[in-house]
Amino acid sequence: MKTKKREVSILIIYTVGTIGMVQDDITGSLIPIDFRHISDHVPELRKFGYDLHSISFDPVQDSSNIDPDVWVKMAEIIEEGYNDFDGFVILHGTDTMAYSASALSFMLENLKKPVIFTGSQLPIGLLRTDGKENLITAIEIAAAKENNLSAVPEVCIYFDNKLTRGNRTTKMSAEHFDAFYSPNFSPLAEVGLHLRYFNNLIRYP
Ligand code: ASP
Repeated sequence: MKTKKREVSILIIYTVGTIGMVQDDITGSLIPIDFRHISDHVPELRKFGYDLHSISFDPVQDSSNIDPDVWVKMAEIIEEGYNDFDGFVILHGTDTMAYSASALSFMLENLKKPVIFTGSQLPIGLLRTDGKENLITAIEIAAAKENNLSAVPEVCIYFDNKLTRGNRTTKMSAEHFDAFYSPNFSPLAEVGLHLRYFNNLIRYP
């Protein structure tokens, strides 16, 4: 009897930040999207062969409001879904993303699955947004497997073609797409035509 191959399943945790914004047609001001309709903004998500699930913070919040209680909430969501999902993507504002990624990396001990933070400099609703590429590649990284094990079982930040360790990354620009860097540790993957993981740098459990 043939058994159906289990799809890779990813949980997207939507906290908001610029990535989750669209422009109100009438007032022109930025408003958060209803994440249940994310594939209207990023139709490419429908092409993934993964089982994508999402959970939205209520209320969604700018990352300047994120505090340790919110870190606990994020960690609890991951803990609750840990056995059901192969990887986690956290959509977060850029201003405090590095702090949240750092905190989560110490809270989630013996991690065997990827927790990939990402966000964007331009709202997902704008034509030139960097949010789509960041989201799509973050999902791909969260889903990546090597020998049936997660390729990057770490808390990381993926932003503008760079995958860096969460607790080694800092925001350096509010103006450029290339907004984050990791001054003391090399990126964990090369993201170009191919995604090439640096296994010698990645921490495995
Ligand atoms: N103020 C926003 C935030 O950090 C900026 C951003 O998402 O880039 O939530």
